[in-house]
Amino acid sequence: MTLSLPRYRFTGCGDGDLSPDSVDVDRRRAAVVALPWTWLRQVHGDAVVVVDRPGAKTGVRADGVVTGVPGAAIAVQAADCAPVAVLGESVVAVAHAGWRGLVAGIVPAVVSAARRVAPGPLRAVVGPCIRPRCYPFAPADLDVVAGAVGDVVRSETGSGEPALDLVAGVRAALSDAGVDDCDDVAICTACSPSHWSHRADGGHQRQSLVAWLEP
Ligand SMILES: [Zn+2]
Repeated sequence: MTLSLPRYRFTGCGDGDLSPDSVDVDRRRAAVVALPWTWLRQVHGDAVVVVDRPGAKTGVRADGVVTGVPGAAIAVQAADCAPVAVLGESVVAVAHAGWRGLVAGIVPAVVSAARRVAPGPLRAVVGPCIRPRCYPFAPADLDVVAGAVGDVVRSETGSGEPALDLVAGVRAALSDAGVDDCDDVAICTACSPSHWSHRADGGHQRQSLVAWLEP
């Protein structure tokens, strides 16, 4: 059996707005990777779709997508929420994980979906997202997220207010799902001039995480 190598890319402002409704977005997607893209209508839930041919299931309401088909590009969009890639031997998966998705269980859902597509070890990469120093969070909501994934999410902003550590939550959820090998690009969308942040800019532009198996 020939293994297909997993590939992924986190885009930035230089790649243009990759939100689904932006003008001419197909051209920008093709410039990032020239394969048929499956992108999602994200709803902060735990639904994961399985792509069985390149371009299938595009526009479906879900927050995770997985494929074992070489040549299928699968994508999520984010501006402060965490884009998460889950990579294995002959399987790639991506998830859009904000705090609501984390509470809903999108991380274990996407790990389970990847395991159903292909057995074997998985690793993960967390992309550009808002970091706790820039992410003041209501204590009541913080309790909800801590109840779902643990107290590791409790943090502080630069000025000492309660804050959510989204990446710590993603890491904890991945570890609970048996994925301990997790890299982090360590970019804060609110601080980075090369990334969009809904909270910092108030805009609707999005970067993407796109993953695929080499065709
Ligand atoms: Zn920041």
